[in-house]
Amino acid sequence: MIRFTSLGSGSEGNALLIEAGSTRLMIDCGLPVRQALARIEARGVDPKGLNAILVTHEHGDHIGGVMGLARKTGATVCLTRGTHTALHNRSAEACNGVTLRLIDSHQPFELGCVEICPFPVPHDAREPVQYVIAYGEIRLGVLTDLGMLTPHVERSLQACDGLVLEFNHDPDLLARSSYPESLKQRIAGRYGHLCNRDAAGFLASLSLDRLQHVVAAHLSQSNNSPDHVLAAVEEALGEVPGCFYLATQADGFDWLTLQPS
Ligand SMILES: [Zn+2]
Ligand SMILES: [Zn+2]
Repeated sequence: MIRFTSLGSGSEGNALLIEAGSTRLMIDCGLPVRQALARIEARGVDPKGLNAILVTHEHGDHIGGVMGLARKTGATVCLTRGTHTALHNRSAEACNGVTLRLIDSHQPFELGCVEICPFPVPHDAREPVQYVIAYGEIRLGVLTDLGMLTPHVERSLQACDGLVLEFNHDPDLLARSSYPESLKQRIAGRYGHLCNRDAAGFLASLSLDRLQHVVAAHLSQSNNSPDHVLAAVEEALGEVPGCFYLATQADGFDWLTLQPS
């Protein structure tokens, strides 16, 4: 089985913890290191057992705590060359004392007993990727921080058993918000964030028979609400599936388990 839990999800910090067999990894850590360590322990896990941290891109809500956590735990940090360059340009010492593994954004690779399948996404970062984690026949897909769905993104996420999917904003709430016009355009743009309607439409295009759990993630705290997310899902699917969950900034979501189908 695969089990996965979020330590926090949203623009103030993202961190997803995943276990499959003897392999334990995280996708991103945008939380302060001390908070991340405390939340990992609160999930019943020894941080020292972390094998790797997969980074999606260089925005602070994803990478802020990665290098500090890697230094504390000895975990290898996997990131694209573009993300590494962006980080290095910000601080030449950012990766000191950390074991890095540079990855190709189109090339699957083995990590312990899992296969990691990165795929590129349209987002305003240097070389952003998202991931599918495969353990035997079980597949967990993760998709946040993208402005729009592309055919390649949609293909990459076929046949998943679990999905963590960005429901960033409600377009009407964003349009009416007090955000500066430039920020509104960035969020709603092709390299920004996925709105509820697009996420729900994508979900409706997938085979729900196979999906054991779907988690709405990276909700905007200003321009979204659980009710708006649920309304969009209901409109696209006719009803909200029983396997649908919402991740929060304060507490992410608790462990979910995926079994072979
Ligand atoms: Zn983000
Ligand atoms: Zn981002």
